[in-house]
Amino acid sequence: MKYIKWALKELGFNKTTDYQNRYINETNIRTAIYMSFIVIILEIWMIIRYVHERPGRTFLRYFDGESNYLLLFSTALILLAFSYRYIKNKSQFNAGKVIAVSVMILDLVILTRFVINNSAEMTGLKMLFGMKYHLLLLVLAVMYLLYECVYVYKDIRKDYYGQVINIIYAVICVGFGVETSIYDVSNDRQILCFVTMLLFVACMLIWKPYVSAIIMGGAFMYFYSLWLPYLIEIDEAGGKVREGDTINYFMLWIVLVMISFSIYHQRRIESEKEETLERISVEDDLTGIHNMVWFNKEAEEILKNPATDLEKKIFLFLNIENFKTYNDQFGYQSGNEYLINLARVIKESFDSEPVARQSDDHFVVLADSSTGRERVEKIRAQVHSQNEEVYLELKVGGYRPLSRDTDPRVAVDCARYACSLTKNKFGENFKEYDKDVDSRFHMNQYIVNHIDRAVANGDIKVYYQPVVWSDTRELCGLEALARWNDPKYGFLSPGVFIPVLEEYRQIHKLDACIFKQVCENMRSALDNGREVVPVSLNFSRLDFELMDAVGELEKYVEEYGISKDYLHVEVTESALMDDDGILSRAMDRLHKDGFSIWLDDFGSGYSSLNVLKDFSFDVLKIDMKFLTNFENNEKSRIILDTIIRLADGIGMKSLTEGVETDEAATFLSTAGCGRLQGYLFGKPMPLKELEDSIDSGKYVISDSLI
Ligand code: C2E
Ligand code: CA
Ligand code: CA
Repeated sequence: MKYIKWALKELGFNKTTDYQNRYINETNIRTAIYMSFIVIILEIWMIIRYVHERPGRTFLRYFDGESNYLLLFSTALILLAFSYRYIKNKSQFNAGKVIAVSVMILDLVILTRFVINNSAEMTGLKMLFGMKYHLLLLVLAVMYLLYECVYVYKDIRKDYYGQVINIIYAVICVGFGVETSIYDVSNDRQILCFVTMLLFVACMLIWKPYVSAIIMGGAFMYFYSLWLPYLIEIDEAGGKVREGDTINYFMLWIVLVMISFSIYHQRRIESEKEETLERISVEDDLTGIHNMVWFNKEAEEILKNPATDLEKKIFLFLNIENFKTYNDQFGYQSGNEYLINLARVIKESFDSEPVARQSDDHFVVLADSSTGRERVEKIRAQVHSQNEEVYLELKVGGYRPLSRDTDPRVAVDCARYACSLTKNKFGENFKEYDKDVDSRFHMNQYIVNHIDRAVANGDIKVYYQPVVWSDTRELCGLEALARWNDPKYGFLSPGVFIPVLEEYRQIHKLDACIFKQVCENMRSALDNGREVVPVSLNFSRLDFELMDAVGELEKYVEEYGISKDYLHVEVTESALMDDDGILSRAMDRLHKDGFSIWLDDFGSGYSSLNVLKDFSFDVLKIDMKFLTNFENNEKSRIILDTIIRLADGIGMKSLTEGVETDEAATFLSTAGCGRLQGYLFGKPMPLKELEDSIDSGKYVISDSLI
């Protein structure tokens, strides 16, 4: 059994993958380029010699019957055109078409002349048999032309096509060898041409060993049957086959078969290695589906292919929202298992389209736009059904490629950006990249690319918003808020540039610039003998990661000689949610330095009272959300009242933001909220406007500032 298995494998009956078949086929076709070149040159030489030996003939007479050089020459030309086209894969190759059409016409003329010249002696089948090689050449030329024309519109199975063309080529070559050698033998010469042609076909065009064995077996037997009459030694004793020649002849057959076996196996092993290497380089480590290297290559090929209808394609970017919580809750290992499973689900949903994992919980697909949404919904249903303890949501961004030159990397980026717009938006799970998104995307790119310039040119300006005591409504502080006055886009609001700078980790550049300006402004106010009030500065969570934020602040305070009582640090509640120690250490240092720390936007996000327990703040800034619809909502009052008392209970002062009505201000004052901030008292304004308002008596600076 073992030996049978081994023998079957050696004969090439074992299963090979598509990749291996393609590899072997491609090597064959590549070799065919060189081979056809050699044959073309050789045949040109032969034709010249042949014509030279027979002067005075008409052009067409040279092609009648006895010369097969032209046949082989034309075959090699077609093979060259085909293999070049196959390897290059260019969409237009007109030279090839011209060659094929010329060969066809010439071949038809030769065939017609053959019929006319032989119609007297030959009938039907015999005539066909007599023309067999020229007929094959005709088939070859038609096949190539068909390949040229059809390929442009449809991605036909090229492998199979290439093999058929190679087989026809092989048959013509061997046929040529047989005919020429039999002619030679009849003139007392050697059988070298036959042997050469077989060597050619066997060693260069490699197919499965059993196919080689069959082709060569057939050719050897066929030739032997034709050769046999010439092998009989005519001596006095009568006819006798020359044994030595026969033995050598069959030895040659065996050797050739063995050589072709060996080359085949060598190529098979090579192809296996290549396949493994290729698989490793295009596979995602964790999930086993493809990675982006593969995806980009595949997507580019699809887009470039003339057969692709671009309007039917859409790049999808899939992201699992809240996956971090899942990881935190169930651990890394479970998170990985979840991703592996998710990758499988996505792959199955888009079984015939390119799918890859980009990173983390991000996947990309180049989908069919008519069915894409539907399939995404199915995946979403799976995501929802899989876990009840952590709420996970599938968010998807889409991008339709506009031209064949679309770079898949850019397309994925756009889809990713569209997806990012659905972040934290309940119920909005799919967003397609459209004109609107496009201008936002470009705006973002602009912001990221120009933050350095804006800082250097002074386009970033501090605006100050007044903070007042709730009882006297006298000025007790200011909040520094950034404004970007851009030479191209004009006035940009922080709602636009802050999230972008945070996403691209550039926010520290802006904040450092604000710290500096605030200290500078305060210094010059003091130098001008003006009375100053404390200013609170907004710190982003990333400031502590991206720079030595505390050190930076200390530096400016030192440089401009500002009292630390006059600067407050605002940190948002969400910044503290998953603190890994950096922030708490920074806060300790700030406290030690003597800065007071304010908790910004309290109640705006997924509030956790733990934040109040674990960190110490001096002032609690109650988010303006509680004041929306304040007049009609009794609950707002109760909540505000409770928060203020809670702050008081744990020794924190409170400030309410977004106060727009007198009614709200009065209520908050009665409830015991010490500081108020909002449009009722003033919008954020440039320094000059603020100073003018103080000078005109609109704002009265309180005597007690802390
Ligand atoms: P925030 O720290 O909560 O700042 C308060 C925001 O509420 C400001 O918006 C302010 O103009 C607005 N506001 C104040 N009173 C009222 C009111 O009565 N009604 C209404 N509807 N809005 C009011 P702004 O200046 O657009 O800033 C938005 C956010 O951008 C800020 O929210 C802050 O998170 C961030 N930001 C602003 N400047 C900076 C900065 O220099 N650094 C950092 N890291 N973030 C900043
Ligand atoms: Ca703030
Ligand atoms: Ca705030």
